[in-house]
Amino acid sequence: MMVAHKQFPHEENPLVQDILALNDKRVHAHVREKKMRQEWRAEHPFHLIYIGCMDGRHSHFPQTLGIPVGCCDIFQHPGAKFKTHWPYFITLLTDSIETGLYAGQQVVIFVSSHYSALHHDHGCRAFNNNRTSATDHILTFTRDLKDLYADFPDDIHIIPVEVNTDNDAITFIGEDHLTTAHAHAMGDAESMRQQIRRYCNTANNEKLVNLLFEFVTTNRAHVQQVLQTPRAHTDCCHNETVLAVGRGFNTWLNMERNRGIILFPDGDHDLDRGIEIAGNILLENSKNNPFLEEHGALAIACSAYSEQKKMRIATARALGYAERVQRILTSRVPDLRFIVFSGVVHLSTWKLTPVAA
Ligand SMILES: [Zn+2]
Repeated sequence: MMVAHKQFPHEENPLVQDILALNDKRVHAHVREKKMRQEWRAEHPFHLIYIGCMDGRHSHFPQTLGIPVGCCDIFQHPGAKFKTHWPYFITLLTDSIETGLYAGQQVVIFVSSHYSALHHDHGCRAFNNNRTSATDHILTFTRDLKDLYADFPDDIHIIPVEVNTDNDAITFIGEDHLTTAHAHAMGDAESMRQQIRRYCNTANNEKLVNLLFEFVTTNRAHVQQVLQTPRAHTDCCHNETVLAVGRGFNTWLNMERNRGIILFPDGDHDLDRGIEIAGNILLENSKNNPFLEEHGALAIACSAYSEQKKMRIATARALGYAERVQRILTSRVPDLRFIVFSGVVHLSTWKLTPVAA
């Protein structure tokens, strides 16, 4: 049995070394890709936000629409089960929205559920693989967000979508469940634009129609690529080795598909339940993943900071998450072998720095 404690020598632990190397790779890529991000942003004057599930197969949603890494703010939690009364979540979401509004941009928020068309049991674990429950939640949450931001009808657009994780195909879901816009089912360019106008009710917002049209066509090309090289079974089902609690993961952890399960650190009861669900998924994964079986799982407790003088505060938060992950996994998923690693991520560079109590 692996002994879990906070101050383990991370220099010697292969799980931690692995994750630090992955982070390092993204930190360097982030520098190299700066010009590309600037150009993409100049051509797409929108502020983009994605709210989705914790699932490791679902994390690279922006890239399936052709959005470069770092050009879309991401919030992840089991089944995208966020609530508009969670203080930390709504503060961060509103901060993100205001960044766009102050820059004079329209804000587009994708709220997403996921399913597998090929295997019922590869759906969303937070809804026991029930696709209808997952989309019902997305539509309810979309209405909650629309109520919350009802005073900004022309500037904030909330768009519920569903993703088939077999091939990353997206479907825009209408409030009646029936009004959908499938990338695959669409015909020529003008009929696609008409569908998008109808779906979004955006007759007078051609900028938004053009953006969504671009996303739909990019997604269609991406899906075609995936279909030409069928995914390995381990990429279609859960195969994560990392449980990530906190903030600072979204830009790098799942650049390698299916690496980690990401939980947002808000909502007392829901976070504990999320840690338990994620812990059980890792326990099941360890039966099929030799690396996980040999080394156990890695739980990362992480907080993000943007100014050096706030690093100590971020460290305190990260250690608080670490204590909680340790306690919940030990009591509720006692058969899982795991270690907890604490770190902080700088929001401009994405660099992960280990911290200890
Ligand atoms: Zn899910």
